[in-house]
Amino acid sequence: MTPDEFRRHGHEVVEWIADYFETIRDRPVLPPVQPGDLTAQLPAHGPEEPEPMDRILADFRERIVPANTHWNHPAFHAWFSISGTPPAVLAEALAAALNVNGMLWKSSPACTELEQLTLHWLGEWLGLPPDWFGLIYDTASTAGVHALACARHRADPASRQHGNAGRHYTVYCSELAHSFIEKSAMTVGFGLDAVRRVPVDSAFRLRPDALSALIAADRATGRTPACIVATIGTTAVASVDPLPAIAEIAAREKLWLHVDAAYAGAAAVSEKYRHHLAGAAAADSFAVNPHKWLLTPTDLCAFYTRDPAALRGAFSLVPEYLRTDDGSAVNLMDYGFQLGRRFRALKLWFVMRSYGRRGVAAIIEGHCDMAADFASRLLADGRFEIAAPVEFSLVCFRFRGSDEENRALLEAINATGRAFLSHAVVDGRYVLRMAIGNWQTSREDMTKLAAMVTNLAPGAC
Ligand code: PLP
Repeated sequence: MTPDEFRRHGHEVVEWIADYFETIRDRPVLPPVQPGDLTAQLPAHGPEEPEPMDRILADFRERIVPANTHWNHPAFHAWFSISGTPPAVLAEALAAALNVNGMLWKSSPACTELEQLTLHWLGEWLGLPPDWFGLIYDTASTAGVHALACARHRADPASRQHGNAGRHYTVYCSELAHSFIEKSAMTVGFGLDAVRRVPVDSAFRLRPDALSALIAADRATGRTPACIVATIGTTAVASVDPLPAIAEIAAREKLWLHVDAAYAGAAAVSEKYRHHLAGAAAADSFAVNPHKWLLTPTDLCAFYTRDPAALRGAFSLVPEYLRTDDGSAVNLMDYGFQLGRRFRALKLWFVMRSYGRRGVAAIIEGHCDMAADFASRLLADGRFEIAAPVEFSLVCFRFRGSDEENRALLEAINATGRAFLSHAVVDGRYVLRMAIGNWQTSREDMTKLAAMVTNLAPGAC
């Protein structure tokens, strides 16, 4: 591609993205496609000869986009709703142009230092201790693997040499914690059986008394408790575990405390919601996903630890060909299992500068207000119940009827193409989840959604 061709196609792509953001409401959130539909439209083998960019872009528009679930749609309310905002989209293009690998300070001083600085800024916005060490992983799941590896390192610093060495490590989290904890336990060799799911109270928060009892029972049977994972904003209902009480238990039992604030941690950018992180300062590690509710496109997980020596102890391994002599410089490859590192900090830095803390806080507060308003509208209708306290921008609700009727309601909403919601099972009952996280979602969108839900529910007039 010549520089002039690049300019031409680059302008075309930017035009397309601008139009996409502007007219995205005209598209169905969920594509009306079946498994295999896209594959059937594309050649089974890669091209032998170069193809013109015009044709590639045409296929992108006509085949790829129509088979896409539009996560950037203001009516995307499934799982946790997210935003890839325009400043961050520009930053992603620039990061691809620079194409650095930030494994070492020398391999990209800018990537290394901006990652450290941006995470320091973000830590300040969230009210985290200023001396914590922060770095970026791809996902909260990867953060979980690192937290468990640190926990094992604390329990047995020689574990990097001899692995689990016959010990049966155990990990504690609430019944509602995310499944990445089991996957992390599988990955580090603790095994699925190592994960203890602690019962929750009536507000879906981990019960500290039950946690203490489970730890004691494991010690009594010769197991090695290693880690507690507390969740701020559980996936199903966005409940908040009682961090201060959990932190006390972790300190008493000398266990690694990891806080998974993947979704709701972002709310602490607003002073109004910062109290949800009370107690977090006592954690050993903490993860929040700016790619969930902090206006940053996937993927970007901000991981913090008070004990970076544990991370280095668990993971640092420097072969001769990666040896550099840059004094006190941080080499990010020493802080995890991955070597290569994308310049992810750039998009977060663009977001933080473009919106400012107040701008981000205003969007998050707006989302929470819209969620509360949506819940009130459903309650006012009389045919719905709210299935869990609405703390953030997630509303779990159900039609006062059977699970079957609720499942049918969800299918009917999603079949319109005008919104996409997901479900959970809470207290054994099927509930619908409506999450707000998109920068373009407006009050008008929410009024329309509430009307649609009430119109599609059984018994509508
Ligand atoms: N923690 C919570 C509370 C989540 O809701 C999720 C995903 O939705 C995760 C962790 C896992 O996130 P990731 O996709 O970054 O691994």
